[in-house]
Amino acid sequence: MVATAPETALDLLGRVFGYDAFRSGQQDIIEHVIAGGDALVLMPTGGGKSLCYQIPALHRPGVGVVISPLIALMQDQVDALRALGVRAGFLNSTQDPDERRMVEAEFVAGELDLLYLAPEALRSAGTQRLLERGTIALFAIDEAHCVAQWGHDFRPDYLALSMLHERWPRVPRIALTATATRETHAEIAQRLDLGGAKHFVASFDRPNIRYRIVPKDDPRRQLLTLLRAEHPGDAGIVYCLSRASVDKTAEFLVRNGIQALPYHAGLDAGTRSANQSRFLREDGLVMVATIAFGMGIDKPDVRFVAHLDLPKSVEGYYQETGRAGRDGLPATAWLAYGLQDVVQQRRMIDQSDGDLTHRRMLARHLDAMLALCETVECRRVRLLAYFGQDSGPCGNCDTCLTPPESWDGTVPAQKLLSTVWRLQHERNQRFGVGQSVDILLGRTTDKITQWKHDSLSTYGIGTELTEAEWRGVARQLLAQGLLTVAGEHQTLQLTDTSPEVLGGRRTVSLRREAPRPARSAGGGSSSAKKPVVELPAEAAALFEKLRAWRAATAKEDGVPAYVIFHDATLRQIALDRPTTLAAVGAVSGVGQNKLAKYGQQILDTLAG
Ligand code: ADP
Ligand code: ZN
Repeated sequence: MVATAPETALDLLGRVFGYDAFRSGQQDIIEHVIAGGDALVLMPTGGGKSLCYQIPALHRPGVGVVISPLIALMQDQVDALRALGVRAGFLNSTQDPDERRMVEAEFVAGELDLLYLAPEALRSAGTQRLLERGTIALFAIDEAHCVAQWGHDFRPDYLALSMLHERWPRVPRIALTATATRETHAEIAQRLDLGGAKHFVASFDRPNIRYRIVPKDDPRRQLLTLLRAEHPGDAGIVYCLSRASVDKTAEFLVRNGIQALPYHAGLDAGTRSANQSRFLREDGLVMVATIAFGMGIDKPDVRFVAHLDLPKSVEGYYQETGRAGRDGLPATAWLAYGLQDVVQQRRMIDQSDGDLTHRRMLARHLDAMLALCETVECRRVRLLAYFGQDSGPCGNCDTCLTPPESWDGTVPAQKLLSTVWRLQHERNQRFGVGQSVDILLGRTTDKITQWKHDSLSTYGIGTELTEAEWRGVARQLLAQGLLTVAGEHQTLQLTDTSPEVLGGRRTVSLRREAPRPARSAGGGSSSAKKPVVELPAEAAALFEKLRAWRAATAKEDGVPAYVIFHDATLRQIALDRPTTLAAVGAVSGVGQNKLAKYGQQILDTLAG
């Protein structure tokens, strides 16, 4: 008799998911959990966290119970697993009693590999009794940062998850998050009672994402230019700070021929979920949203994430931009940032509830974000350093590709600070940036005449710079904490460190903006679809055929297109042009179940 060797984690990766190698970190985590260990996993968005609990759940006897706050996405997650041949189900408040009973029966009968639960469901005695009746392979706590009380994702129900260990002491627990500061990390370990868990911190690098931060000028126009020039027909997410600007931006894009949908908490639940569902299901839609959108969205072919307003922290920025390019193909993270962002964010911090410690923490987060915006070094080096990871210049961010110069801005800084000082001390007045710039440029506006600012000694001493350059100086001084805004009207005021500059004891290094491209490319009429990585003509034609087949199949099956196959898989098929089922099965992303279901259709599509 020949005993068949038990299936390894790597076998499962190939058979079920169709991938031939683990990504960095995955294998160690998976083996640790398979062996029954607890784990706390920090991995960037798009890094591949799901496999870290899905493979152990398939390998260990019993059902993997996944706790996730993303109720609206459970159906899609379960559909995606079923397409892979994984027996998955979910229990949450959106189900009718019949559906529930069916899933409960499957669980008890051991007919599930994975069961998704909302955290509030776990608190009910009924669910706990149900769980006692089946065999549990592991508990996976997804989006584990929801247990952190300061974050905006805080979910009180997560606090109750510490009871898992008491009730099921022998079942391994794996908590996963993409939020990685030391503070959050420690808080998760403590609140989930994961003291004995092994910590796994993956590389936070997402090499296929190109980071770009540009000076904000006319942000909607700038966005439109970017989309037309570099992302025509691509799916993407545009983040705005306010609901009003979400609505306006979505309208603006639609008016300019781009398919865009709004998403924010002010829309009714029906519209929100319809828009989310369209974004996931259709190709090439742009979602314009507040940060309420995006957690758990695992659409692999989001080609760009654009921010029209400054994010509040590097962590938030990294999580949001991480939603681009999960499929590993090139993607853009683009942020437009200006003086007004700094003013607005400082005001929001001033006015936020919470004690001084809380406000200081917000200010620290903002400062780190500003430092990222103003750096003349590689953005990626900065980002990774924020997460405690060392790296070298990446060659795939704006500062690497078009290095900005830094220049000695001490004298202009002194001129601006001195204007603010004079207004304050000689006149007992406070003004915003605009008036100070007008004074330095020696302008004769009504406001200058009215306040007799032409008799200030700094009047007209700054004609060596343009208005835009002066605003750049002001923004950078604000970012560096050498100037601040305060009060009801957000007027400029000196800080504790301003006197060092005024007294000549401190020099000020400023960033000179990279020259704008000579012509706004793509602003004209030619906006033919330009794929992120050019395929040879023949493969491109096949790729389009495969996409059309996929769209029809997805519609028939009622699932998002990427649940059938990712773009990356279709591109590879178009390049390889397989002629046998075995050759189709060798393509990355084609597992056993999908080969059986779609293999012949792929061959027919290629031949047709
Ligand atoms: P996260 O939850 O960390 O944001 P996901 O688990 O959604 O990331 O994975 C991101 C993408 O990477 C998914 O599309 C997934 O199929 C793919 N992926 C994960 N692991 C691998 C691997 N070992 N090889 C190829 N693709 C992978
Ligand atoms: Zn770089």
